[in-house]
Amino acid sequence: MAFNSKSTNKNYILSTLVVIGLLLAIELTQVIGLRHAYQQMHQQSSQQLASLVSYIENILGRFEKIPEVLSKHPLLAQVLTSPDDQSNVIRLNQLLAEIRTMTQASDIYLINSAGITVSASNYQLDTSFIGMDFTFRPYFQQAMQGGLSRYYAVGLSSAKRGFYYAYPVIAQGDIVGVIALKISIAQIEQQYKKTLLTDSFNFLIVAPDDVVFISDREEWRLKTIGELSASKRAKIIAAKRYTDKSITALNVSDISNHYLPKGLDSKLLQISSKHKQEQVFAMQTLMKAANWQVHLWSSLAPIKKQRALLIILSACGYLLVVFLLLFANERLKNARRLKQSQQLLEQKVKERTADLSASNVKLLEEIAQRKQAQTQVEKMQEELIQSEKLAVIGSMSAGINHEINQPLTALRSYSENALAYQERNMTDKVKKNLTLIVGLVDRLSDIVSQFNSFSKKSTGVASLVNVHASIMAALSIVKHQAKTASVKLTLAPCSEELHIFGDAVRFEQVLVNLLSNAIQALSEQEDKQVTISTYENNALVFIEIRDNGPGILADNIDRIFEAFFTTKENFGLGLGLSISHRIIESMQGQLKVSNHQEGGAVFTISLPIKQVL
Ligand code: ADP
Repeated sequence: MAFNSKSTNKNYILSTLVVIGLLLAIELTQVIGLRHAYQQMHQQSSQQLASLVSYIENILGRFEKIPEVLSKHPLLAQVLTSPDDQSNVIRLNQLLAEIRTMTQASDIYLINSAGITVSASNYQLDTSFIGMDFTFRPYFQQAMQGGLSRYYAVGLSSAKRGFYYAYPVIAQGDIVGVIALKISIAQIEQQYKKTLLTDSFNFLIVAPDDVVFISDREEWRLKTIGELSASKRAKIIAAKRYTDKSITALNVSDISNHYLPKGLDSKLLQISSKHKQEQVFAMQTLMKAANWQVHLWSSLAPIKKQRALLIILSACGYLLVVFLLLFANERLKNARRLKQSQQLLEQKVKERTADLSASNVKLLEEIAQRKQAQTQVEKMQEELIQSEKLAVIGSMSAGINHEINQPLTALRSYSENALAYQERNMTDKVKKNLTLIVGLVDRLSDIVSQFNSFSKKSTGVASLVNVHASIMAALSIVKHQAKTASVKLTLAPCSEELHIFGDAVRFEQVLVNLLSNAIQALSEQEDKQVTISTYENNALVFIEIRDNGPGILADNIDRIFEAFFTTKENFGLGLGLSISHRIIESMQGQLKVSNHQEGGAVFTISLPIKQVL
């Protein structure tokens, strides 16, 4: 939970930073981009403004001299001084019309000192100035004072905007009238509009009375930029400059912002009308000759478009950078995580290896302990086998005694005989007795050596064992016991060539054990018989030891190979069969017991035959 709120906080801070960064990036791009755009616009506007000013000045200058030159024409003075001479008037009318056509002026007309037009280039038109009173026109009044006068106004009869030049006509030193020339402002506007660099430029020329007198946009003409003062308004009405047109103000507000470079002599303006709002880059300059303010307004629409594009581009660029940074960061984190998990894995592997080597050491220790225990067990087994052997020998001691006592008694009598014959010097007899003694000693040594070899400890070394030889050796050990117990031992025909692989001493011990048990089992029997038979089957040699004794009780038959199982109360250890069973198993064979159908027990040893090469 704590982790979650921590990571949420982190995400929140990160998102806020990204948003702040985005806003900053957009702002920075705008500052750079817009400033550059405004600078460019300023440069273009300056050029355009200069061209506009020189154009206007050129036009005005071109017409300026015409009234002065014309005033010198004698016909003008003649018409003014002799107004009744109609032929002069007609000639002057034609002259003025011709000059108008040549100069491209709007109208040229002659006003007498009373302010009444006496001749005009437009004499043929219904709207002809002839007969019109221009006393109220300031240009007439000024020219009557002597010298050139300039004036702009809306024409009374044409209702068109015009620029007027007037010059006094002098006859015999007196000012007798005024020659006036009117230029059409609309014409200037149209001509200049064609030379504009782009459609987005608009121009306005503001007279000293603050009224927009010239503009390429009709809706701005005869409007003021800002409110008109009452005194100026009264003056305008008195001079009928704009006839009876009411002068209203353009709704202009300054919207300059911080993107506009400080050093530029320009403003951002918003012009609002009923139908639309326009935003413009505004520059102005003073046209000194006419004392006019020339304004150049260029639409901000292209910049607005550029601005939108800039914002989109900068936002995209910024977000791309942020995305790349986050991506790189994520990759870095992943690499770090991978490294950590690798280190963790390596650590675990190290720990696991340490564990494994520890358990390996433990295992090796256990193996060593097991081996030691195994050796101890083997030693104990060997000792048990040995004690069992001694027990067998013990049980046969009566027979052995007899076997040894009898030759000993014979030895004694042969020795006494030999002594007696020696006293009588009967050498032949002495020799015969001594020979008999040697034979007896050999027999004794035979008996002793057999028991000696049986009581020897096994070497534990496996080798090729002749089955027949082992049976014969076992028989020679038990034969005295059998004889004493009146047991008849029978050896059924057996191949002398059969061999097995194992410990010969132990194999013999098993045979002695089984034969000895069989002999003991016959103690109560009248006709005592033990048969040993050998046969081979399926690469196995079978050695069968059968007696005709009581056999084994059904209750005991399953326990007979258990250690310490015995029915012999006084002398049995109960180890013989269990040891024999284990010896045969260790030689990859089996020891089984059954009761013969004609009575008596049958012990069968089966062992793999070992071929002699
Ligand atoms: P022990 O001879 O010391 O008793 P063994 O393990 O050799 O020990 O024999 C276990 C028991 O098996 C004997 O006590 C005896 O009851 C029985 N037994 C062994 N051989 C025979 C046999 N041939 N006939 C009947 N019983 C036998």
